[in-house]
Amino acid sequence: MDYVSTRGGAPPLAFDDAVLAGLAPDGGLYVPARWPRLSEDALRLLADLPYPALVARVMAAFAVPAVSEAELAEIARDAYRGFDHPDIAPLKPLGDDLYLLELFHGPTLAFKDYALQVLGRLFDRILGRRRRRITIVGATSGDTGSAAIEACRDRDAIDVFMLHPQGRVSEVQRRQMTTVDAANVQNIAIDGTFDDCQNLVKALFNDAPFRDRYRLGAVNSINWARIVAQVGYYVHAARLLAAPERRIAFAVPTGNFGNVFAGYVAWRLGMPVARLIVGSNRNDILTRFFASGRMEIGPVHPTLSPSMDIQVSSNFERLLFDLYDHDGAAVTALMAAFRDSGGFAVDSPRLKRARALFTAARFDDEETKAAMRHVYEATGELIDPHSAIGVAAARRVERSAGVPVVALATAHPAKFPDAVEAATGIRPALPPRLADLFDRPERFTRLPADLHAVERFIAGTLADRRIDG
Ligand SMILES: *Cc1c(COP(=O)(O)O)cnc(C)c1O
Repeated sequence: MDYVSTRGGAPPLAFDDAVLAGLAPDGGLYVPARWPRLSEDALRLLADLPYPALVARVMAAFAVPAVSEAELAEIARDAYRGFDHPDIAPLKPLGDDLYLLELFHGPTLAFKDYALQVLGRLFDRILGRRRRRITIVGATSGDTGSAAIEACRDRDAIDVFMLHPQGRVSEVQRRQMTTVDAANVQNIAIDGTFDDCQNLVKALFNDAPFRDRYRLGAVNSINWARIVAQVGYYVHAARLLAAPERRIAFAVPTGNFGNVFAGYVAWRLGMPVARLIVGSNRNDILTRFFASGRMEIGPVHPTLSPSMDIQVSSNFERLLFDLYDHDGAAVTALMAAFRDSGGFAVDSPRLKRARALFTAARFDDEETKAAMRHVYEATGELIDPHSAIGVAAARRVERSAGVPVVALATAHPAKFPDAVEAATGIRPALPPRLADLFDRPERFTRLPADLHAVERFIAGTLADRRIDG
């Protein structure tokens, strides 16, 4: 299976090379040159597989021969071992043929664990085979950092340096990063803002000699392996609701378009996905796109669902590439217009094609709170503000008779206790695995927002570690 860039200007790569590369050298994102498809019989055979074996089977359709299904099965078994629910991704009925797919049973209580736990191990295996190491650097305003750290901790071939703005992430989020006791994990608290952190990471990658010497890499949401690992829970939810015999719709709280794009990949793979419902908060660039065909950037508004406070949904480029029939030059032109003028439009036949599968709805903070309250009153379940947008979106769009809707619950309510309490009056407790989070010792290094200081720290730490063996 070859991978090509959405901008058409990079040589095709095998799965393992595309995973290590992350972004393509022409600035595009890697996608399969052709969509693999499972027959209905093959889909039926997924019904009884344990969750890790299911993920391995799905990933194998995209990864073989670079990585075998047996290797993927080993990786997935290990990746999901630490999840604290026997079903890994349990499905709970909310009534009216609406279901909640809980994707918060991993180590950091958000859906990103479902892919990153696999990605960390996959990196380790690919690098080990090549006797290479990689240095992951990232900037976080809270959520992604802890998931990336948990995914990379104690991996043989990976060192992690995660930057966060000193004093500007919540205490739970900071502690989820700084209490990880692993020799290959370094947290850096930068005296500055999240933008300073992001600019420092960009500057590290732009320093070519430094980048090459320390083999800098990223695990951000444009990595193809993250998308395919996420396809697993769409297929899992669908099989629990009797697919492929029945069509299923999904409602997905969306930021970077990575999660919902995995639903699109499940549809490409042959799962009978009837509809993909995109839920946005006030940062509604995607909702406006699906209404008008015009993608137009606006200012970022802070909301109760901060992991969706995004204006540029990077994975959307993968859908564009399909809508433009794999015309990389056309995608390059659209992305250049977006960069230069903050907008682009697709023509109406293409918008129509997108709308045949996708619908979108946006919700402000009051509506988000109302959705949390409504679910609590109707079922006794507490849901987090991101998940609430998924549920609200599922309820807003027109339903097809006989098609169940699965709303994706992307974070545990205890990750956003203030919002949940404001909506329901109940303050959700951290699950037992994190109950002692506030008693664990923290470890981080404070540095100024200065490239040379950060480079000196990374170089010094790696020199010490490599001497230690
Ligand atoms: C990252 C995140 C999202 C958005 O997911 P995308 O793949 O970026 O669309 C939604 N909810 C939570 C809790 C997240 O952490």
